[in-house]
Amino acid sequence: MRASKIYLHTLKEVSSEIEKTSEKLLIRGSMMRKVGGSYAYLPLGNRVIEKINKIAKKVFDEAGIQEFTMLSPASEEIYTQLVKKDLKSYKQLPFGFYQVQTGCRNLENKKGSIHFSIATFDKDLEGLNQHFEDLHTIYTEIFEKCGLPTVQVKDIHNAEEILSGKFVGFSDEGKEEIALCKECGYKATRKRARSIVDLPKQDAGMFPLEEVYTPNVKTIEELNQFLDVAEERLMKCLLLKGEDQFVAAFIRGDRDLNLTKLEDGLNLEPMTLTFAEAEDVERITGAKTGFAGPIGIKDVTIVVDDEVVQMKNAIAGGNKTDYHIKNVNYERDFKADYILDIKTIKEGDKCPNCNGHISIERANHLGEIKKLKTDYSQKIGATFIDAFGKEQPVFMGKYTLDITKVLSGIADAHHDESGIIWPMRVAPFHTIVTIVNAKKEEQVLLGEKIYKTLLDADIEVLLDDRNERAGAKFKDADLLGIPVSITVGKRAAEGIVEFKLRDQEEKQEITYDEAIGNVVDLF
Ligand SMILES: [Zn+2]
Repeated sequence: MRASKIYLHTLKEVSSEIEKTSEKLLIRGSMMRKVGGSYAYLPLGNRVIEKINKIAKKVFDEAGIQEFTMLSPASEEIYTQLVKKDLKSYKQLPFGFYQVQTGCRNLENKKGSIHFSIATFDKDLEGLNQHFEDLHTIYTEIFEKCGLPTVQVKDIHNAEEILSGKFVGFSDEGKEEIALCKECGYKATRKRARSIVDLPKQDAGMFPLEEVYTPNVKTIEELNQFLDVAEERLMKCLLLKGEDQFVAAFIRGDRDLNLTKLEDGLNLEPMTLTFAEAEDVERITGAKTGFAGPIGIKDVTIVVDDEVVQMKNAIAGGNKTDYHIKNVNYERDFKADYILDIKTIKEGDKCPNCNGHISIERANHLGEIKKLKTDYSQKIGATFIDAFGKEQPVFMGKYTLDITKVLSGIADAHHDESGIIWPMRVAPFHTIVTIVNAKKEEQVLLGEKIYKTLLDADIEVLLDDRNERAGAKFKDADLLGIPVSITVGKRAAEGIVEFKLRDQEEKQEITYDEAIGNVVDLF
C-alpha cells in the first residue's frame, strides 16, 4: 500500500486524559482513537487485530475447536440451548467451538472489546479437565506467537480443584492485582490469594481482660491514636448481612477484609454478603456502631481470620458504647464458628507454598478459562445418552480471549520512546520503504522498484511516497513500528539504500538488491 493513499494520521502528542502508555502509542501511531467513551481501531490498528485473530483462529482450528457465528450475544444459556438441539449421544462428544465478537460483552463493560468466546462440551469431568488443560496450551501458544509475555494465574477457591484461571500480562499500568511469590512461582489474583500466618512468638502470658473507656472512638485509626498502640495489636470486627444470617468477621486492625475469600470460605454465592445497617449492628452488639467485639456477641456466625487466632492480648470492641476491651485472647475469651483466611493479601505476606515473600504486581487481564461443569446443561436440559443408555447432562467449559487487550499488551511489551516496535507476525506491514524526497525522480523510481519487487515476493510493504519532509517521514516510520525499514535517499542513483531494523540502532548502507534479499531472508 501507499502511504499517500491510506488513512494515516500520526500525532505528536495525545490529550492528557490518555494515561496508559499502550493507548498513547496506539493513538499516536494512527492505529486507534478514543471516541464516544470507547475505542475505534483505525485501518492500521485493524491490520494488527486481523493478524492476531488469524494467529488465534489457526491455533483453535488446529485443536479442533471450530469457528461459528451467532447473532445473539454469547451467553452460557444460549450456548447450552444451541447444543441441546443436536446433542444426542456420547459419540458426538467431545467438541468445542468459538466465535469472534465485537462490541460490548455485557452492560458493565461499556468500553467494548473484540474477543473470542469459546465453549467446550464433554461427556464427563475427565474430558472437561482435559479441555481445560488444552485451552491453557492453546492460549499460551497464541500469546507466544504474538510475542506477548504472559502468565497464567489460577483462581484458587476453597475447593481443592482449580475451577478457573486467568491469563495476564504483567504491566505497571495494569488494572489487575496479582500476588506473586518469586521464590516458588505461586501466583493468584489478589482477590483470592492466600498467605500463611507466621507471627513472631510472643513470650508474654495472657493478661486479664480490662475494660477501657474510649468515648466516641469508633474507627481503627481513632483507636490507634487514642490508645497509641500499633494497628497490629487491634482487632477489627466487621458485621455483615447474608441472606439468612449475620456474620461477624474478625481481622487484625491493619488488615482489609477480603469479601470474596469470606464468601468462598462460607460456601456462599458471590456478592451475597453486604455490610450490616447501623440498626442491626446496635441490636447485635447492644452498642452504637464502632464498638463491636468478639466477647458476648450473639446470634451471628463468627468468622475469625487465622491471624487473629495467634494475636495475644489484643484490643477489641467491648460491645458496649464508648468501651473497648484490652487483653483479648482467642480461645480463652471467645471462639469462632469458622477460622478462615479472610484477609486481603499484602506486600510482604508469606507465600502459602514456600513461606517466601509475596509481592503485589500489576497486570492486564487477557483472557480467562472456566469450568462450568453441568451448571447450565442441567438447568436447560442439554443431555446425551451415555454408553450405558443413561441420560447425562453435558459437561461444559467457557473461555474468553480478549484480542483488544492482547493488542495493547503487545504495544506495552514492545516499544521505545519513539513508538511501537511490532513483532513481525503481528506488524501492520513487514517493511516500510521510504522515499526521502518524492520530488527526486531517481529516488521515486528506485523506491517504486523495491516496492513492486517486495510485493511480488508476497511481502507486506508500505511505500511512503508522500510529499512530506524527510524528518516527518522518519518519525512516522518509528511511530508505525514496522519491523524493517528501507530508506531510498541521496544515493539512489548508485542503487544504494539504507537498511534498518526497527528494534536495532544500526543502519546499513547497501545495494537495493541486498536490501530486498535481507527482507526476503527474514521469512
Ligand atoms: Zn512461594
